[in-house]
Amino acid sequence: MLSVYLIVGLFGALIGSFLNVCIYRLPRRESIAWPGSHCPSCSHAIAWYDNIPIVSYLVLAGRCRHCQTRISWRYPAVELLNAVGYVGLLWFFGPEWSTAVYGMLYSALLVVTGTDLSHKIIPNVVTFPGIVVGLISAARQQSS
Ligand SMILES: [Zn+2]
Repeated sequence: MLSVYLIVGLFGALIGSFLNVCIYRLPRRESIAWPGSHCPSCSHAIAWYDNIPIVSYLVLAGRCRHCQTRISWRYPAVELLNAVGYVGLLWFFGPEWSTAVYGMLYSALLVVTGTDLSHKIIPNVVTFPGIVVGLISAARQQSS
């Protein structure tokens, strides 16, 4: 069971890395799929080994490998929060369908919090699907 938590935690950190992309790009109306990750300061593409959640931040001591610009602590924070959140949800609710739904809503909440803190924006692209997910799961609970 411990290994399941480990896998879910790693998965959560990876998703957290994607959430950082959303937090940075959604308020700027940039594509979240293209191009790949690059340093916001020097635009240098970030290699996969410099893009490992939490670990790369620690290895690089919080600085871009190329221009030495400080990387915001929010990046590893979001990755860690999402990893811990997923593990916590699994621990609390068990391997249920609803746990996955809570995970999605939790991640959406992290994106909303991040974009709100940095840009005072709550992107509709996050809230609208969140409303749909919320309504569907509420209907499921009613019927069961
Ligand atoms: Zn850079």
